[in-house]
Order: sequence, then C-alpha cells, then structure tokens
Amino acid sequence: MPTSNDGIMVILSSPSGAGKTTLVNLLSEKKKNFEISISHTTRQPRPNEIPEKDYYFVSSSEFKRLIKNQEFLEYAKVFDNYYGTTRTPVIDKLNKGKNVLFDIDWQGADQIKNKNLDFKLITFFILPPSKQILFERLSNRDMKDKLIVEERMKQFERDVLHWINYNYVLINDDLQSCFNKISNLIDAEINNGSKDYDPEYIRSHVENLTS
Ligand code: 5GP
Repeated sequence: MPTSNDGIMVILSSPSGAGKTTLVNLLSEKKKNFEISISHTTRQPRPNEIPEKDYYFVSSSEFKRLIKNQEFLEYAKVFDNYYGTTRTPVIDKLNKGKNVLFDIDWQGADQIKNKNLDFKLITFFILPPSKQILFERLSNRDMKDKLIVEERMKQFERDVLHWINYNYVLINDDLQSCFNKISNLIDAEINNGSKDYDPEYIRSHVENLTS
C-alpha cells in the first residue's frame, strides 16, 4: 500500500498536438513538489530541445543495452523511434516523497498501470477540441512537412481509441483552464476531495472526434 510519505505518479498522454507537453511543463512549474521524468529516446533532438532536460538522446544500440539490462520501467516504439522511462530515477524520487510527472504515450501508460507499483497512480488523457483545431496546430508546428501532418492525423484516429483506459480525459480548449482542471483533480485525488468531472460529456466529445 502507498504511504502518505510516498510521492505519487501522474501520467499525461495524448494524441500528438493536443498540448500535453506544455501542460506537463506547467504542472512541474506551478505545482509544489512535482518533477518530470526525463525519458530516453532514439529520436534526433529538435532545434529547441536541450539534452538531459527534454530527453536523454541515445543511439539505438544504447537503447537496446538498456532494454537488455532491464533498466526500463516501460518503453515503446512511437513513430519509428524508441522512447522509454528508466526505473531507478523514478523510484528514487517517489521514495523521497517527490511526485513524478510522465509525458508518455498510451503504451507506456498501460505498462506502468500493469506493474501495479506501490505508489498512487493518476492517469490523464488530453484531447484536442476538434479535428480541425488539431490539424491547424499540427500544421503550424510542422509547416514544412505536410506528410508528417497527414501521418499524425491518421495516428490520431488510432491513438484516441485509448481514452477509455485513463482515469480522466480532458479537452485542451484553453491551456489555463485545462491546467486548472488537472491541478484540481490531482488535489482532489490526494485529499479525497470532491471531483469536478463529467464522464458523459467526455464520451460524447470522443464520439464527435471519431465520427
Ligand atoms: P515527441 O517525439 O513528440 O517528443 O514524442 C512522441 C510521443 O512519445 C509523445 O506521445 C510522447 O508522450 C511519447 N513519449 C515520450 N517519452 C516517452 C517514454 O519514455 N515512453 C513512452 N512510452 N512514450 C514516450
């Protein structure tokens, strides 16, 4: 059983372009005692990314070595690259009472959930307000590469189906209000408080997104 001195784990997943990374960064800045788990990846760094802050950028052979040594709490292939969370830094933080935020995909969330670790786990799935807005966000981000946008829109159709496996599904129509909702739900979970959450509204939003 988790004790009240242990940290908690908070996972945010979403289809690409729903704004999850910004939300994870906001949570780590604004909420006391939350730290982001830094993943390993075989993908190339983007121009604005800082090694060992955004990711540990490693070669495929290094990633394979980490798999072989069973160092990953979870790992997955996403868009042709490997991504994974190493176990030791996460467990050390949790044991010291720090809360850990994970920006990982649904495969990683499933793996962590199935491990049934002795720490409280809260999972969030972030959705865009509409397919049109997602398309616009992805186009602004990857303006030069129409193919990437098309591929990510197709991937969206597959990723969105995993919403059902999360504790909470939220719509990121406004960054600040989405952040407030996540923050309030985390506080309510920690303090056994009342939760402002409407699963029926989410179900109908997902129906709209997938119709
Ligand atoms: P990006 O390449 O855009 O940074 O990330 C692509 C996807 O990989 C995102 O959905 C992100 O959440 C996910 N991701 C990042 N790190 C990890 C990780 O350690 N494990 C898993 N399973 N997914 C990750």
